[in-house]
Amino acid sequence: MSNNFDKMTVKDMRKGLNAGDFSSVELTEHFLKNAKNNKNLNAYLEIFDDAVEHAKAADVQIKGGKAMSLTGIPIALKDNILIKGKTASAGSKILENYTATYDAFVVEKLKDQGAVLIGRTNMDEFAMGSSTENSAFAITRNPYDKTRVPGGSSGGSTAAVASNSAALALGSDTAGSIRQPAAFCGVVGLKPTYGSVSRSGLIAMGSSLDVIGPIGKCVDDVEIAYNAIRGKDKADSTTIDDTTFDIPEVSNKMTIGVPRDFVSSDINPNVLEKFEKTLDALKACGHTIKDITLPYLKYSLASYYIIMPAEASTNLARIDGMRYGFHLDGDDLLGDYKNSRGEGFGREVRRRILLGAHVLSSGYYDAYYGKATAVRRFIKEDFEKAFRDVDVIATPTTPTPAFKIGEKADPLSMYLEDIFTVPANIVGIPGISVPIETIEEGGSNLPVGFQMVAPLLGEERLFKLGKVVESF
Ligand code: GLN
Repeated sequence: MSNNFDKMTVKDMRKGLNAGDFSSVELTEHFLKNAKNNKNLNAYLEIFDDAVEHAKAADVQIKGGKAMSLTGIPIALKDNILIKGKTASAGSKILENYTATYDAFVVEKLKDQGAVLIGRTNMDEFAMGSSTENSAFAITRNPYDKTRVPGGSSGGSTAAVASNSAALALGSDTAGSIRQPAAFCGVVGLKPTYGSVSRSGLIAMGSSLDVIGPIGKCVDDVEIAYNAIRGKDKADSTTIDDTTFDIPEVSNKMTIGVPRDFVSSDINPNVLEKFEKTLDALKACGHTIKDITLPYLKYSLASYYIIMPAEASTNLARIDGMRYGFHLDGDDLLGDYKNSRGEGFGREVRRRILLGAHVLSSGYYDAYYGKATAVRRFIKEDFEKAFRDVDVIATPTTPTPAFKIGEKADPLSMYLEDIFTVPANIVGIPGISVPIETIEEGGSNLPVGFQMVAPLLGEERLFKLGKVVESF
């Protein structure tokens, strides 16, 4: 039976567990074995030694007829999500020895269900990056081609799922960090509506943009995980009580908007071809494809790279090496700060702290931060207008397939990776990346992602169309 675990969806696992065909201990041991066999991918920073204990408890729960959707299912968590008593380093040397003192809201939810947490996954330091090369600990490799990156910043989580080293994983998405690595690793990644999943216990990057979301092998798995982790949380005042919110309707035939002027620019031609082919297939199923224009979309990346560093530099100010985390003595208090932060934070994080401090500084605030927030409003209005005519908006998830480790040495070329994913975070709307056909590049078959975004709380539309797309 264990031979089939790699092919099972979460629903299959649920059925098998409930029927007693296999136990959570067997399932967990299988994924742990895969994780160990795939150690050279560096998907995990730590595999939890208490996973089997939790699987045993899940088996008792299942036998007692109390199974919920994720009871006994092995799940990996990105290293920026707090699990009480475990290390949470956010991929950074400065938090290398930091132990979480409480559970993130999503972890509470998973524990309540009896899910089995099997390890913490590698990530770009403080979620800053698109390749997982910015981790202070290891470079994660793409399971499709080990000379290539898995994407980032949740590259460890997507590599874990893609290599069958976890049934499901959680990541975080501030500008694409779930969807872009999902596209590179050939798995499904959902960036939920901002506020539908609590940020309590997520090590913050850009608080107005961050959201935790699920990664799985198919849309159904991601939908199950999303429903398990979402909900109002009193510890995060931005969480939405969706009983008081208009949920967008889902119809059988949907209109899919394509921002043409945006999609044709600078995209790998093979990626574009697969994207067009998927649109044709959707059309053949009776959906309508409609060209749209979003005039302010082209300013998304520029405004993101002002808003995010501003928020990140503020958030990271609390990590000063004084109360917890890496500490290096200086000659005086200022010297302590300089040494601890200078040595503890990596290059990309320091760059963003400097950028953020600059755009918020007196004399520059209005010119940069003020302007970027104004542009953010215009981009939101663009989307609101577009959603009067279309149900979802589709683009490729990324302009290229997975690139080589070390290929993008300058920060700007790395930042351009976010071109299609960042608007959803700027606006707060949900987005999904679903794998379509692979393309051949440099002798490897590399996955391509098809991205769809929907209006606020329009996840149902994404699940419905996502299932159609993955069936092609
Ligand atoms: N590439 C983005 C960045 O470096 C990813 C951010 C994210 O989604 N965490 O800012």
